[in-house]
Amino acid sequence: MPVCQNCQQEWTWKQTMKTLFRLKCPYCGEKQYESTASRKRTSMIGFIPFVSLPVTWFVDMSFWVFLIFYFIVYSIIFSFIPSLLKLSNEQEPLW
Ligand SMILES: [Zn+2]
Repeated sequence: MPVCQNCQQEWTWKQTMKTLFRLKCPYCGEKQYESTASRKRTSMIGFIPFVSLPVTWFVDMSFWVFLIFYFIVYSIIFSFIPSLLKLSNEQEPLW
């Protein structure tokens, strides 16, 4: 789970999900940024559904099964993000 770089408090999964798009520390209220290494990891995870897309061409899936399949895949991926998230006090350059 991510640790606030300002107050060194560890965020819970629920707290991280709540602040995922703002990344504001629930303990000290300080704005946090995602570290470069962490950003690379989380963006890579976003590619998994696209990589798994060709699989659905080989398996004969109906539209609804396909939709449910993606919904499940995305929720699993999304639930992993808090454990991969690493925080930083400042905005770091991507490269
Ligand atoms: Zn904090």
